[in-house]
Amino acid sequence: MRIPLSQPDTGDGEIDMVTKALRSGRLSLGPFQEEFEVKFAKYAGMRHAIATSSGTTALHLCVKALGIGAGDDAITTSFSFVASTNCLLYESALPSFADIDPHTLNIDPREIRNLIERNYAWDSAARRMVNHRTGRILKAILPVHIFGLPCEMAPILEIAREFDLRVIEDACEALGAEYHGQRAGTFGDAAVFAFYPNKQLTAAEGGMIVTNDEHVAALCRSLRNQGRTENSGWLHHSLLGYNYRLSELHCALGLAQLGRIQELLCKRERVTRMYLDALTGATGIALPCQPPGFKRSWFVFPIQVLGPDPEERRAELMAGLEGHGIACKPYFPAIHRQPYFSAFGSHSGAPLPWTESAARRCLALPLFPSMTEEQVREVCSAARKTLNRIHARTRAVDIEREPAAPRAAP
Ligand SMILES: *Cc1c(COP(=O)(O)O)cnc(C)c1O
Repeated sequence: MRIPLSQPDTGDGEIDMVTKALRSGRLSLGPFQEEFEVKFAKYAGMRHAIATSSGTTALHLCVKALGIGAGDDAITTSFSFVASTNCLLYESALPSFADIDPHTLNIDPREIRNLIERNYAWDSAARRMVNHRTGRILKAILPVHIFGLPCEMAPILEIAREFDLRVIEDACEALGAEYHGQRAGTFGDAAVFAFYPNKQLTAAEGGMIVTNDEHVAALCRSLRNQGRTENSGWLHHSLLGYNYRLSELHCALGLAQLGRIQELLCKRERVTRMYLDALTGATGIALPCQPPGFKRSWFVFPIQVLGPDPEERRAELMAGLEGHGIACKPYFPAIHRQPYFSAFGSHSGAPLPWTESAARRCLALPLFPSMTEEQVREVCSAARKTLNRIHARTRAVDIEREPAAPRAAP
């Protein structure tokens, strides 16, 4: 593709740092990890940061460290990258999916409350909410700040307090995002960021857990490093742990990127302003929303195809873009519809009409810091051309009047 969906922005600073790590002779568990964690914690506004090999392994350690396991449920969203659900399944916990808000695409706090009130009741012996059909215990909420837009954290925290639930934020797409002036990743018992090359900050691979809970931090540190503890010997393992470490080379790269994070986020923001200018008023699509009080950290540029038969229209739009050498992806298919998920039975949540609608309508357009005005213009003109063709063919339907998603459950 001439215009990729994403492209890391790395330069001489990154090359110098990685070279420095390589030349140091110490390639794991060294000063680059330490400095990356200290500086990341400061940037995130949290006391502890623990670097891991990926966002997925970071989520897994949070689930373990917060004591979520067999027989437990956690409320989360099915409109996400699979890692936010898989981290529960690894521990034999199950997701209880609450539906999303069709505009923000984030888990809807009202749906969380409905789900709890319909399926769980307080058990005074367990001192927990227990599912009255399955007997499973409700332990946590795992909100995902999808496409860099923070979830509505105030009502989510209120529900968590009311029912004694832990909160793990999946902030993998939301580094630098804010909810009413407070950073995404600072609301829960723990939060996770990720550094795959398409994220706002890349370490090639990698993840980071942040928390203010000293016990959780120590547990994650130990589990990441084969269950060793700070002062134990190399072959002394207090816990069943993992090798989820992040190498010094990765930490050096992450550190160099962290030093430029404001610049990187500003460049992304600049690209999205061009997108919004060029696509406002385009036929048959909804642009990403920016509700007041929410500061999105731009990840991809997500649009929603409006009107009936959205999957057909989206396929035509994708073909139009790809025909011009422009990459795009239908982020995200619903997790509960993924082939592998059927092995975990029917999801224990409510019907998910908005999630399923979004999965049929959403399309991610290219977004990366070094994207030029010329490239944005190319994407938008190819998109408009195809959208106008679709509009001409389907003129009988007044798609301008269609809501962003169906009003009732399909
Ligand atoms: C990227 C991402 C992750 C973590 O992905 P890794 O590839 O394991 O680093 C988790 N959740 C969401 C929503 C993501 O976008």
